[in-house]
Amino acid sequence: MHPIIFVSLGPGEPELITIKGLKALQEADCIFCPETQTRDGRTVSRAADIMQQLDIHESSIHRFTLPMSKQRKDALAAYDRVYEETLLLYKENKKVCIVAEGDAGFYSSIHYIFEKLQAENIPVMHIAGIPAFIAAGALGGLHIASQEERLTVIPGITTVEEIEKLICEKSAIVIMKLSQCTDEVHRCIHLHPEYSYHYFENIGTPNEKYLNDNKQIEGLSYPYFSLLIIRSDTF
Ligand code: SAH
Repeated sequence: MHPIIFVSLGPGEPELITIKGLKALQEADCIFCPETQTRDGRTVSRAADIMQQLDIHESSIHRFTLPMSKQRKDALAAYDRVYEETLLLYKENKKVCIVAEGDAGFYSSIHYIFEKLQAENIPVMHIAGIPAFIAAGALGGLHIASQEERLTVIPGITTVEEIEKLICEKSAIVIMKLSQCTDEVHRCIHLHPEYSYHYFENIGTPNEKYLNDNKQIEGLSYPYFSLLIIRSDTF
């Protein structure tokens, strides 16, 4: 029987998948791939976009809808269906992959399926990938953290006070899911223009954006696929 392989696709640029991940996709009988419905009724899938650019056979890709609502239970129900289908294919000795953007074990809700399979003693494998914040650092030419510095990753909810405290402790900061804390980020830039802010949007796609000008970053509303790196030059 073949293990179920969780393939990390990298941040968006197709060449940033690993060779190991690409081989697993090329050899798969079935690849489960999340897609979402936008508010204006379109169906989008960054994962499918990446695989298309890697020339992965359409016929092996099985898309499933991942509800974007804040209700985690809706997403879990979708994952439960993928889990059931995966089990059937596993028993038929098929090679199954499940894909995730960035790294599949870094703020990746799909890991829920991994844990569920593991609990049933189904063999699973996770192929590492490049998370978006690492690709962001490279795009901006940043040394994200150096020497004695720490790095704190914040998934969305934060306050100016928390950011101040972390900077005092010599921690560089990565804020993901930036759309969840837009006002606090604007306030922080206003109160602390001396910190360096690096804003990234849609890394690895044709709409990629990198800004390090405070005024410009302060004036933006942040989409889901955006992140911010904050550092202090006085570390
Ligand atoms: N597993 C992913 C993280 C998923 S959580 C990883 O390893 O990177 C989703 C958050 O990741 C988004 O809110 C955004 O902050 C960040 N993100 C993912 N892809 C991105 C991209 N291409 N450009 C900018 N931010 C991205």
